[in-house]
Amino acid sequence: MKTIALEEHFLIPELETYLEETFQNVNRDLAARAVPRLLDTGAGRLETMDACGLDMAVLSIAGPGVQIEPDTALAGDLARKANDVLAGIMAEHPARYGGLAHLAMQDPAGAADELERCVTDLNMQGAMVNGQTLGRYLDAPENEVFWERAAALRAPVYIHPGNPVSKPVCFEGHPGLWGPFWSWGVETGTHALRLVLAGVFERYPDARLILGHMGEGLPFMMWRFDSRLPVSYHPEPPLPEPPSFYLRRNVTCTTSGVFDDVPLRCALDGLGEDNVMYSIDYPFEASNLADEWISKADFPDRVKEKVCFRNAERILLNMTAS
Ligand code: ZN
Repeated sequence: MKTIALEEHFLIPELETYLEETFQNVNRDLAARAVPRLLDTGAGRLETMDACGLDMAVLSIAGPGVQIEPDTALAGDLARKANDVLAGIMAEHPARYGGLAHLAMQDPAGAADELERCVTDLNMQGAMVNGQTLGRYLDAPENEVFWERAAALRAPVYIHPGNPVSKPVCFEGHPGLWGPFWSWGVETGTHALRLVLAGVFERYPDARLILGHMGEGLPFMMWRFDSRLPVSYHPEPPLPEPPSFYLRRNVTCTTSGVFDDVPLRCALDGLGEDNVMYSIDYPFEASNLADEWISKADFPDRVKEKVCFRNAERILLNMTAS
């Protein structure tokens, strides 16, 4: 079956130093193996894609990238550079690679312009933002200009996990909790809920968010969100719909880093079968494991086709439907 994956990372040498922020959370061996793979978008990567039957990889910078750069002008320059390099890679292998724009959210208006350049002039599929930017989340009022443009362009915005600016005390004493094992999912699911509670999706019904890791736990929790919000908190201005409404309408998820039928069933039930897309998270996850799982996953072919490529062809920009 045709497969398109959209949490597949690459790197330009200029952004390598920022990876240290991520590597504090991962095994040193995995980190050392990852760097040459991230820098290779040629024969080595294409061989791996062929070996695991991956037709198309939508590439994105391995985070956090410029998200943690304190100098706004430098962050903008580096993001544009990364996007120009990515556009070149896509042009070299148009059938194999797509791209998600790297954005300097330090300057939301500049990020909106860069998003528009990337999806309009450079043929990209949307954008990826690596969590908070210098402590500011995407629901901040400063980002209104960004959401207005993203919604008008119908450009999907993928929130990739990152670290918060400070470590909550509940993660102290157990280093394993900090990172992909637990804290990244909590951080990223929280980021998405901030957008729901801030009314971003109420104001921009066409905004589209993508979450990795089967939706960062949110599909499992939807009934409870709807049940508990009215008795615990009243957003101002009020939300006319329950949280699950916005999660189903505005949020899609990928299978990145979660190769298991049980959470896929939950994501399909929770968000709907039109809102789940296949992804691996190369090079941090093993492409062969993902392929072995999705090949055997126990779902009807009609649903698997949606997950493996049809939803991506519909949701991402500048895609040709097959
Ligand atoms: Zn990733």
